[in-house]
Amino acid sequence: MHCILCNVLMEDFGRDFNGVQIYRCPECMLVKAEPVQSGASAEMYDDPEYFSGWGSDKDFDAGSHDENLHQLTNQYLDFIGAHTEGQTLLDVGTGHGLLPLLATKRGYRAEGTDVSRHVCENLPAKIGVPVHHGSIEEIRFDKSYDIITLIHVLEHTESPVSTIKRCKELLNDGGFIVVVVPNYRSLDTRIKDFLSKRNLKSRPFKHLALGHHNYVFSLENLELLGRLSGLETVYKGTGGASWKQDPFNRLLARMNMATWCYVVYRKPEQEASATGDRAHAA
Ligand SMILES: [Zn+2]
Repeated sequence: MHCILCNVLMEDFGRDFNGVQIYRCPECMLVKAEPVQSGASAEMYDDPEYFSGWGSDKDFDAGSHDENLHQLTNQYLDFIGAHTEGQTLLDVGTGHGLLPLLATKRGYRAEGTDVSRHVCENLPAKIGVPVHHGSIEEIRFDKSYDIITLIHVLEHTESPVSTIKRCKELLNDGGFIVVVVPNYRSLDTRIKDFLSKRNLKSRPFKHLALGHHNYVFSLENLELLGRLSGLETVYKGTGGASWKQDPFNRLLARMNMATWCYVVYRKPEQEASATGDRAHAA
């Protein structure tokens, strides 16, 4: 098992409480579950109950979502507003669709994608936003976008490299990709890894949520992922949910040890001219 980012041999890191094999890259600390859950696990996402878990209403009624979810989604949109430019936004793996809905209210022309048929059949009528069905690699688009968001999505994909490269293809020159994922180097995960390794947890490695998550990232390997995909990392940092922004969590964020990684990639302007420049220099 080689690391998809460094190509070095990954270490056997143990098994989680469900028996899922865990590998970790000694170079970049990327964590990978084996076997990887394929797109066929779309069945899992087709279950309406899947969406009732995180304060979201399973019928996608925006007014019935938890207040925390509204607050968090607005926090994401504040972040997107501060670190990107553009008007057209594609939210990959949109789920309950609150992000494109609230983005529209801020003046973006937003669309979504989802692997869940349940989402794609029911969500557009509820939020008035187009939602494309399938994985980003499979969907045929007739346009490109200024901003593509993957909020708690990349860790679920079969191949993060092909997902990010496909997003780059769909971006306008100078466009942005915004990624939010769990932070493997968070304080919480470091402690729970330590306890899991020493069999001091009743359900070892439950915190990695393998089975839903195929990969667990950190800031360093996300930057590597961008570089491999020909993207510039214009922002990287960690943070948590807005209602947890007490002094302790702000300190963790400063140490890059908060719960989630936030990364913004930018697609270079006019890629073709780069080869032209090299030819010229030669
Ligand atoms: Zn690696």
